[in-house]
Amino acid sequence: MAYIHRMRLTRNFRIWEFRCHDKSVTQVPEPLFPNVRRLARNLQVLHYAAAAIYGRDVKISIRSGYRTPEHNDKTPGAADKSYHQEALAADFNLFLKVDAKTWEELPPTEVRSLILELIREGTMEEGGIGIYDWGLHYDCRGTRARWDGRPRRKGPKRGK
Ligand SMILES: [Zn+2]
Repeated sequence: MAYIHRMRLTRNFRIWEFRCHDKSVTQVPEPLFPNVRRLARNLQVLHYAAAAIYGRDVKISIRSGYRTPEHNDKTPGAADKSYHQEALAADFNLFLKVDAKTWEELPPTEVRSLILELIREGTMEEGGIGIYDWGLHYDCRGTRARWDGRPRRKGPKRGK
């Protein structure tokens, strides 16, 4: 099975990047491959757009992609019906290359603005966008959802 997890989903994403971070490091189950591919295609649009706008190499680092229902239950702040369980959601950070050894993070507020613009122009799918102090959540659920999960701010808190 190992070879399949090196499978390239798009130019810059491989399937293992979306594995569950539970103890057994559960890989994305095969029935969810179409979902994770769809998610990766949307993130690839973001990758290309950021590279074009900033004129630098881009790295999107997936903190959390697929989650087993068991792992989702144990994730603090996770929504009960999290799209992570369907491999349609990713929590991530976007970095721009400074030099051979250095990457700097594009602030989540800027990444969010870029995603909103790409959704408006129809190149990224509508979905859920949550901003946190650690980065962004994006899912391609198809319907609009927005939330702010940063601490010490007013507004509804939603799962990550
Ligand atoms: Zn999330």
